[in-house]
Amino acid sequence: MVELKTLSKYPFLNVSKDYVKENGLSVNELLDDPLYERARITGVERLDNAFKNRDVGNRSLATESDCIMELLSYPIARMIAVCIEDIYFKRRYALGEAIHAYKNLVNEPTSFLIDISNEFNLNVKYFEDTNKIKMHFVDYLHNAPTRYKEWKMINRGMKDGYIQITHKDLARIIQEALRARINKELDSKGCNNAIYKTFSLDIQRIQNTVMIHRKNIEAVPIGKMDVKKLPPCIKDILAAIQAGENVPHAGRFAVVSFLNSLKLSTNDILKLFSSAPDYQEELTRYQVEHITGKISSTSYKPPGCEKMRTYGICPVDKMDDLCKKKRHPLSYYKAKWREEKDKK
Ligand code: SF4
Repeated sequence: MVELKTLSKYPFLNVSKDYVKENGLSVNELLDDPLYERARITGVERLDNAFKNRDVGNRSLATESDCIMELLSYPIARMIAVCIEDIYFKRRYALGEAIHAYKNLVNEPTSFLIDISNEFNLNVKYFEDTNKIKMHFVDYLHNAPTRYKEWKMINRGMKDGYIQITHKDLARIIQEALRARINKELDSKGCNNAIYKTFSLDIQRIQNTVMIHRKNIEAVPIGKMDVKKLPPCIKDILAAIQAGENVPHAGRFAVVSFLNSLKLSTNDILKLFSSAPDYQEELTRYQVEHITGKISSTSYKPPGCEKMRTYGICPVDKMDDLCKKKRHPLSYYKAKWREEKDKK
């Protein structure tokens, strides 16, 4: 029997969801009953904290009531997140839940992490006598943040298809798996009217905050670049980086080489990356300077549309009329400049 405190620390687990179900609480009770007002307030707090602090936040779990309110605040927060209907916000919220879980997970015994790995269908082996953990390379590649040098397969070594990882690595991999799972679940759900009605003021307040945040990002003049003229592919990759998504190397390469071609300085490029929730300046600077030729012998050219499609980073559904006429993201950007100049 899992302790109530554990369920409230990890409300995303099946056993936590089962606890809520078994107690037969209806959505209406959660929304209207004064008994659950604290859970409703905490649900909104989770969202605010995730957006502002990249962590849904810590609250007291000293009493049974504390734990129950914390546990119930999770489904409430998720339902509200869906009603905010903003992809950037949903990504930030999922990341805030995942980072919070990670901070708790690193302090748990390894056997607990192995149980959670099983729930996420991660192929992991734990050798208690030597305290060694191994993960199958397919799951490793799928979930590890391999954009960072220390996570690259080449720096890990593999034996019989398994990669040795530490307790902290496993917690980080679960963080990524959880983030991806929450993203997927939030994207598959529609807004519930009763939720919208109960939390309409908070929903509108958060929507306004997100809108202001977006405008601030767009309004910041970065070097000589105009964000509004960027082609859909570069816009998409930048948005994903800034929302803290696990952007593959090809995407990061495309963006950095593209911005370098626009003569943006390393510092200006770093500025665009710096709003990512897991931004690490030193590491990002190294990667940028490598691609731009500052610390390597080659200044790489940005890939053309055909290559972007091969890499799977041309968002075909977002291609506009100009895309259809161009064969390179840089030509798209230049054409947009010319278009504006001609209008003047
Ligand atoms: S067609 Fe080219 S410019 Fe347009 S989104 Fe795809 S890669 Fe980017």
